[in-house]
Amino acid sequence: MSLITTFATKRPVRLAVVTALGVGVLVGGAAAATAAVGHVRTQSTPLTVRSGPGTGFEAVGSVAKGAKLNIVCQTKGTRVSGPYGATSVWNKIGEGRYVADAFTSSNEKAPPCTAGQTRAVVSVGKACSSNERPYPNGRVPRSALCSLRAEPGESLRPRAAASFNALSAAFEKANGRPLCVTDSYRSYDEQVAVKASRGKWAATPGRSEHGLGLAVDLCGGVDRFGTSAHHWMRANAPRFGWVHPGWAQATGSLPEPWHWEFSGG
Ligand SMILES: [Zn+2]
Repeated sequence: MSLITTFATKRPVRLAVVTALGVGVLVGGAAAATAAVGHVRTQSTPLTVRSGPGTGFEAVGSVAKGAKLNIVCQTKGTRVSGPYGATSVWNKIGEGRYVADAFTSSNEKAPPCTAGQTRAVVSVGKACSSNERPYPNGRVPRSALCSLRAEPGESLRPRAAASFNALSAAFEKANGRPLCVTDSYRSYDEQVAVKASRGKWAATPGRSEHGLGLAVDLCGGVDRFGTSAHHWMRANAPRFGWVHPGWAQATGSLPEPWHWEFSGG
């Protein structure tokens, strides 16, 4: 499945979440009294714990079959199938630790995650514009876009750009060069042109996350699976709200190591 659908359903929540990105620090989990206890059920292997609510987030650990989990809150993410059906609900079990609800059972209902509980884990600074109004795909005006660090010809929606710029600075610190970008926001007309030249390697015009100004195609090594640059991104981008969607991963339906999306933090 594509995260495009997933993110479309959760975007309203995420937009509220990221209003405080400029302040951006970790907020503790819900009080123990409000947390529900869930029991993990996995079929044979331990259940993977991820840094965010989706299969695009880095694996940060695992929990054994039958383990008892304290579920802090629930949020929407990648749709996953498990012993308890197919659902896009993910359980937050700690700071930067999430498991798919399709693998957990609980007698109590855990509360939905608040903005503070799912916000980005790093500060990303102030955006160049406060215009986060929704626009049709490929019809975002210049005033609602911000340029990217070291790539002045490329742009994204304000919060996505601010997060990207912070990510690029962190990437440069670790790798000695900023993130290299081949594609970012794409107008509708540009999407039509890209589809004509790239065929299946491009989304149907009007459907691309690029048309929302929330996706980038990267170069400089990130565009190849197995490189140190790609690994660095897998491990670090989620802290900035950037994910490599499941469909674009090596095992996904359309492997695109270069394609990354802003999840809203
Ligand atoms: Zn792309």
